[in-house]
Amino acid sequence: MQKSLWILILILSLISASAQNIKVGLFHKYQLTSLLISPVFGQYELIADSSKHIKLNTNSIVYLNLVNQKIQLKTTNGVIGYYQHIELKGNQSFNTLRIKADAPSLKAREYEDDFVLDVVQGKIRIINNVRLENYIAGVVESEGGIKAGKEYYKTQAILCRTYALENFHKHDADGFNLCDDVHCQAYHSRAKRNDLIVEATSVTKGLVIVDTSLSLITASFYSNSGGQTAASEWVWLQPRSYLKPIVDTFSVGGNNYEWEKRISLSNWISFLKRKGFKIAIGVNGEAFKDSLYERRHYYVFGNDSIPYTQIRTAFNLRSAFFAVDYQNGQIVLNGRGYGHGVGLSQEGAMRMDELGYSYKEIIKYYYQNVFIVSLRALQFFKD
Ligand SMILES: [Zn+2]
Repeated sequence: MQKSLWILILILSLISASAQNIKVGLFHKYQLTSLLISPVFGQYELIADSSKHIKLNTNSIVYLNLVNQKIQLKTTNGVIGYYQHIELKGNQSFNTLRIKADAPSLKAREYEDDFVLDVVQGKIRIINNVRLENYIAGVVESEGGIKAGKEYYKTQAILCRTYALENFHKHDADGFNLCDDVHCQAYHSRAKRNDLIVEATSVTKGLVIVDTSLSLITASFYSNSGGQTAASEWVWLQPRSYLKPIVDTFSVGGNNYEWEKRISLSNWISFLKRKGFKIAIGVNGEAFKDSLYERRHYYVFGNDSIPYTQIRTAFNLRSAFFAVDYQNGQIVLNGRGYGHGVGLSQEGAMRMDELGYSYKEIIKYYYQNVFIVSLRALQFFKD
């Protein structure tokens, strides 16, 4: 197929994705069997098995329990009935529902727009059918916290929107688009604790990041780079032209800039031996010292090597960026950064915001040769 046709298909799918809602699987990692719901704003119509209709206002509380593979509906007046499929449709321009998971017991959450509940694989599945921009604002608050500045929030909104559209079909098999957990993007609430988040999401509405072939980028981010970012292929094997290592001075000194981990020499040696390293009996701990502070793909000892990412996983380290020292019978890993290190460093981006950089400058600092484009502007190419 011609490249221009591919681009046209991409653009059409982007435009349709931006115009429609997104379906998010809530409480996806939990075995949810009991919950309470109550409107916080607006009014909802509850439709059970397309036969029973109930109006819910901000005084209403409904209990939903899984009983014999059906959802038992209960109000303060008693049990209403047992159903397989429940829809909650907002009737006003702004509708918000409070959901308190009771089994397992979790903190109450608030979400906007509409919901669909079904019994799937022995649990209650809740799908939030939410306007894309409402979802993005909720993700920005869950992923970016509530203490950052406006340019940072704009940046995070564009990243989260790009991710959502690039991964729109990730959970097709589960009946929704994305889940609410870090497996996709954390979405633990609507945005409600910092007005800047809603504003930043709104002023960047429809903006996404594409590479030189107009494909949505893998908009990866993490907490702190430790002063240098990682190449995509070191972590996920796939190289990406826009995910190359850069020196990142903005992350230096952040909350998650440094860490230390001590491992006994015997543990360290047995780990390396399991990975096939040839280590002579009686080798001195000093031999493992490697004080070079530079992100690299492989840790090398003698003729053997192992990706730093494998050491990170094995010892549950904050990052794959560390120097190796030896002190008093222990291997001391002096680490930098927190997270996989590919793409944008959140603490670095927050620092750039404080120093007066714009969201465009922040994005172009962490991703090379990319374009920030509006989905609407892309429509131009259709003609
Ligand atoms: Zn997911």
